[in-house]
Amino acid sequence: MPVNTIRSYINGQFVEPDSGEWIEVFEPATGNVYAKVADSNRADIDSAVEAAKAAREEWGNASIEHRSTWLKRLAAGLEHHIDKFAKIESKDGGKPITLARQIEIPRSVLNLRFFASLIMGSRESAHDSPAGLNVTLKQPWGVGGTISPWNLPLYLFTWKIAPALAAGNCVVAKPSEITPATAFMLAEVCEEVGFPKGVLNIVQGYGPTAGQAIVEHPEIPAISFTGGTATGRQIATTAAGSFKKVSLELGGKNPNVIFADCDYEKMLATTVRSSFQNSGQICLCGSRILVERSVYDRFVDDFVKRTKALIVGDPAEAATQMGAVTSLAHKQKILAAIEQARADGATVAHGGNECKPSGRCRDGWFVEPTILLDANHDCPINQQEVFGPVVTVQSFDNHTDAVQLANATNYGLSATIWTQNINTATNMAREIQAGVIWVNGWLVRDLRTPFGGMRESGVGREGGWDALDFWMQSKNVCFCS
Ligand code: NAD
Repeated sequence: MPVNTIRSYINGQFVEPDSGEWIEVFEPATGNVYAKVADSNRADIDSAVEAAKAAREEWGNASIEHRSTWLKRLAAGLEHHIDKFAKIESKDGGKPITLARQIEIPRSVLNLRFFASLIMGSRESAHDSPAGLNVTLKQPWGVGGTISPWNLPLYLFTWKIAPALAAGNCVVAKPSEITPATAFMLAEVCEEVGFPKGVLNIVQGYGPTAGQAIVEHPEIPAISFTGGTATGRQIATTAAGSFKKVSLELGGKNPNVIFADCDYEKMLATTVRSSFQNSGQICLCGSRILVERSVYDRFVDDFVKRTKALIVGDPAEAATQMGAVTSLAHKQKILAAIEQARADGATVAHGGNECKPSGRCRDGWFVEPTILLDANHDCPINQQEVFGPVVTVQSFDNHTDAVQLANATNYGLSATIWTQNINTATNMAREIQAGVIWVNGWLVRDLRTPFGGMRESGVGREGGWDALDFWMQSKNVCFCS
């Protein structure tokens, strides 16, 4: 599977872009171009929609066993190449190979298997009364659009296509132009296992062209998007005009609330991960650490020590704990946010600069894991998503204070609460405005649970039945007495 020329996959064929144009794909750890990806336009999206329309009747009317079996075959095909996928995911995104191999690619396999199994338990409802018998059918939309980001490329790509396909839709899917490689490799797996043509179409390209064409296409009634809040707002606005159904998973500025009575060791180890895993480029990272005043000094000392010990460097090395950030533009954005925070009065307890690993990564895009103190809750570093290895630490005095600080942004994606007091945990969980809350842990995911954000972090929920429900519309049939 050499990944040099990344074409789109439409109607079971690998195709060159209509524009004849290509986009450079970089390896963030070295700063070098290593591949080119199709710069698709509206004509390519039109072809993909035509292919999906041609396939939708057969796929949508097929038995759930049929769809489930195909998804399981795709999962098995992906699993067969798991090491190659992990290697390329690490190269494409700059993330540590161990993260790709142990978490992200296995989770991509699981996404396909999970929805292949869940759909087998689907059921429709009936309501009987003297006036008639009502049967509610669940029918696929036909053609679905999915648009996914660069931070967890295949993990989020499969998280979207799996429920859409399981529910009986044919899909036009656009991965991020920044990390297109593993979606392309999945298309190769489709070919290898003989996945039905036209059911999954993967169109590569930029957001404002290929992505926008998906959102505007009159024959795509439902769109699932994961990405930034500003992009989500634009998609919602465009989609509203034609009453499309949208699921939007957007940004976050998540609080990590630490009470003095917590299990300190577990909290400390987890907080290092929840701050810097994947260089902080996970929508669920806790970028605002709120600490009860009585343990604030101790926490800052210990947190800085643990962060200093992180191994930052070549993502291809098994020992590396933090790799590169995803692009040069993103590196500059992160460094600018740190500079702004400094100008606003924040002090740097650790990091704050780009870093230059030696050897093959000396020109790569790396930022030190950065801990900022003394930043006011209302300044940009505590209000705007940085999406990099940057956290702030603030103190609080009591429960009320902690809730106020936790809710003091426009976001509401996730939160973590560290305490051994069940009442504190319960009340905080009730009062914090976030769609996903962990008590004494982080990133523990059960795929059956609803996943998504409140406020500017999104619209709708993914996961389990919520995802399958999104991809089907209800039709009530009344057999009148
Ligand atoms: P982005 O919004 O720039 O891009 C996401 C995707 O949208 C890409 O495929 C891009 O090409 C496409 N796109 C861009 N403009 C578009 C347009 N006008 N129309 C249609 N598509 C368009 O986001 P990103 O920088 O790739 O990802 C980082 C963001 O994603 C962060 O804000 C992060 O919090 C968020 N995110 C959220 C979740 C979640 O589940 N809530 C998960 C992961 C990432």
